Amino acid sequence: MSVEDFDVVVAGGGPAGSTVATLVAMQGHRVLLLEKEVFPRYQIGESLLPATVHGVCRMLGITDELANAGFPVKRGGTFRWGARPEPWTFHFGISAKMAGSTSHAYQVERARFDEILLNNAKRKGVVVREGSPVTDVVEDGERVTGLRYTDADGNEREVSARFVIDASGNKSRLYSKVGGSRNYSEFFRSLALFGYFEGGKRLPAPVSGNILSVAFDSGWFWYIPLSDTLTSVGAVVRREDAEKIQGDREKALNALIAECPLISEYLANATRVTTGKYGELRVRKDYSYQQETYWRPGMILIGDAACFVDPVFSSGVHLATYSALLAARSINSVLAGDLDEKTALNEFEMRYRREYGVFYEFLVSFYQMNVNEESYFWQAKKVTQNQSTDIESFVELIGGVSSGETALTAADRIAARSAEFAAAVDQMASGDGDNMVPMFKSTVVKQAMQEAGQVQMKALLGEDAEPELPLFPGGLVTSPDGMKWLPHHPA
Ligand code: FAD
Repeated sequence: MSVEDFDVVVAGGGPAGSTVATLVAMQGHRVLLLEKEVFPRYQIGESLLPATVHGVCRMLGITDELANAGFPVKRGGTFRWGARPEPWTFHFGISAKMAGSTSHAYQVERARFDEILLNNAKRKGVVVREGSPVTDVVEDGERVTGLRYTDADGNEREVSARFVIDASGNKSRLYSKVGGSRNYSEFFRSLALFGYFEGGKRLPAPVSGNILSVAFDSGWFWYIPLSDTLTSVGAVVRREDAEKIQGDREKALNALIAECPLISEYLANATRVTTGKYGELRVRKDYSYQQETYWRPGMILIGDAACFVDPVFSSGVHLATYSALLAARSINSVLAGDLDEKTALNEFEMRYRREYGVFYEFLVSFYQMNVNEESYFWQAKKVTQNQSTDIESFVELIGGVSSGETALTAADRIAARSAEFAAAVDQMASGDGDNMVPMFKSTVVKQAMQEAGQVQMKALLGEDAEPELPLFPGGLVTSPDGMKWLPHHPA
């Protein structure tokens, strides 16, 4: 059997896999992505966070494609949760880190969203093979050196690479090859039963695109608008109540809806979808877990392959794409010869564990139902240890931007400043301004001015931006383009 060689081979083409593959290919490296299914394929996990949409997706170059896809705009969340009997709402835009045009995310049909990411990977130079399940890793002593897979024609094949990424989600067993155990949380062990409805009620504008999360005696419901008429509805029940979702799924879901007055009201005039990809009532275990180690020489786990935390804050795709960004920085730095593997991957693992840990720790307190939302906001500030107010800390945590990473939050500021500067140059060149100089009337000079302006803008933003500090003592910082790590040299 001939063995193909790549710089990086990725197992799985979900958000984690396509993101890491694209960000490494964009640095000129040769990347192969192997996906078991043929896209588009169904997946759960439809509510996104601003950090994914305006941070990682901006770096991937798909911001406009997403904006034009017609996905409902999610400005925040509406919760009937805790001691207060009425629903309460939060807006991402309350935080300066997500102000203006970055104050929203989307509710997405994952078949479409994941396909946008995978097609973008192809456009950016990733070799993508669908219908190609990975069967095992290839090892050479301590190091993982490649993957075995079955191609779309049923042939057994082998590929070698400097780095193997497991982004194959929570159903594959590939992760076990990284070593160590998978530690399940004692606290978060729920089961979800979910389906799709046409004609459900909407929250009033401008929050009609919000996720609605409603606690009830047996657990909680998600209610996610996927279009003007289609809604994703899921009941998450505690392990102790598991018998409530056993047996006939239709009856079980109806009984759970009847237990929850607000969801009953929202679905009063709705009909369940019973055909096509949304016709099935599905059950998923949503036990939270964390792998003991996220990498070994030559192999890295990202996304659900590495860890999963209770879905109440819609953090799954954020953790998948953020871990992909962290892994890509490490790989890009090692392949460029800038850093050794251990230094680069320790930074990846520490940042990834921090983000997972913040969600996990905060979620434990969020399940205390005898307090009101102010107590949750205060708890968020305590967990993130940041300088913002209580409510801002809460919104930043669940917007995915509590790490303070510039790459996840600065898009809006950069765009606004660029537009401001370009407008000023335009005004001078067109002669509208008081201090117009005749020379600026020339188109050539105007273009030169604008180009120089862009360079100047970069310099301006560089000086203006708060200096990024390592997240951990002695740790690394990100490069200005967000694609690699740099050593930190204190001034
Ligand atoms: P996946 O999306 O699972 O992608 C993995 C890919 O790998 C798949 O395409 C699969 O076909 C492929 N694959 C598997 N095995 C192999 C193999 N052997 N070889 C090659 N390819 C393989 N997250 C949110 O952000 N918002 C939500 O609202 C949300 N709600 C959720 C509700 C529930 C009940 C649950 C359980 C999860 C929810 N999540 C949510 C989490 C979200 O589904 C996941 O975190 C997210 O899909 C992880 O992305 P990933 O790329 O790691 O894995």
